Amino acid sequence: MQKRILVTGGAGFLGCHLCERLVAQGHQVIAVDNYYTGRRENLSALLSQPNFEALRHDVTFPLYLEVDEIYNLACPASPVHYQRDPVQTTKTSVLGAIHMLGMAKRLGIPILQASTSEIYGDPDVHPQVEDYRGLVSISGPRACYDEGKRCAETLFYDYKRRHGVEIRIARIFNTYGPRMNLEDGRVVSNFIVQALRNEPITLYGDGRQTRAFCFVDDLVEGLMRLMNVTQKLDGAVNLGNPVETSMAEIAQLIVELTGSRSQIVYRPLPQDDPRQRCPDISKAQELLHWAPKVPLQEGLQRTIAYFDGVLSAMHDPVRH
Ligand code: NAD
Ligand code: UDP
Repeated sequence: MQKRILVTGGAGFLGCHLCERLVAQGHQVIAVDNYYTGRRENLSALLSQPNFEALRHDVTFPLYLEVDEIYNLACPASPVHYQRDPVQTTKTSVLGAIHMLGMAKRLGIPILQASTSEIYGDPDVHPQVEDYRGLVSISGPRACYDEGKRCAETLFYDYKRRHGVEIRIARIFNTYGPRMNLEDGRVVSNFIVQALRNEPITLYGDGRQTRAFCFVDDLVEGLMRLMNVTQKLDGAVNLGNPVETSMAEIAQLIVELTGSRSQIVYRPLPQDDPRQRCPDISKAQELLHWAPKVPLQEGLQRTIAYFDGVLSAMHDPVRH
């Protein structure tokens, strides 16, 4: 059945991949974005499609559309971007959630929230299960994002309890792949671009902190399965690849895969940088019959090929 689907943050990294999958399935897709971190180029394959529409709009302001379901992804996701204007980050999460939940309530339609592993903060339970309440700073530099996303989740639960809105909450763990923003400061994009340019690889701290990296295609599949779940849903669902990797390991792997001459240099660990992060995905496996399929090495090779193309197109002077 063809649906009208709204994707907020549709010009961003995850949003553009999601829009492509939905358009390919024949749905009518509207991407709403204020282009704060997203780009129109991310949508270039879609703009000529008759069942796709891009709308410039800031979700901190009300929006009235008639659609059948909503994926709420609007929010800068990389620490560099979300800390640039922390008040706007919190506003985007909280006011964006209120406006999109209001639309879902008015129309009686399902809505999916792109929440995050950051709601667990610097966790003291490992791997993170959905009923873990987290260890989050209320005042640190990451709080604008973490607390904004926590408040958005609270709003989702209250709209469900008070107004019967059909909600889905995906707690997304670190995701990477083609069309990540070259300058967003996230570890995978930073290391790949540094390696391709034979520049020093900037490892923060001692490099022993861990993350679990999920390839974008796997993540988008998980989001779509969660939206379309038929069983009764209770609370949030972790989506991520449960293969834990240290930052030193990922630096080494990227140097090897790119054949780079880059050396590793150590830089101070940013404040409140989580030491360990890895999802327990049992709930997603059971409810959605979902697990990531793309191994880290293969996903990195595809991401390296993408950034190689971007740097070549820019006639990047440092690269050769
Ligand atoms: P991104 O920064 O590439 O995309 C976010 C998009 O939202 C951008 O296109 C941006 O312009 C748009 N946006 C920001 N503020 C807006 C506003 N006020 N109004 C309208 N549009 C606005 O990030 P991403 O990696 O694609 O992340 C998408 C969502 O997934 C975010 O909500 C993020 O918190 C969540 N998430 C991502 C990851 C990850 O590893 N990529 C991990 C956890 C959660
Ligand atoms: N990191 C790093 N070098 C970089 C960028 C990031 O060592 O050039 C580290 C960072 O300190 C963190 C991890 O990589 O421990 C993941 O950082 P990212 O910003 O990608 O995501 P998040 O911290 O939000 O998981």
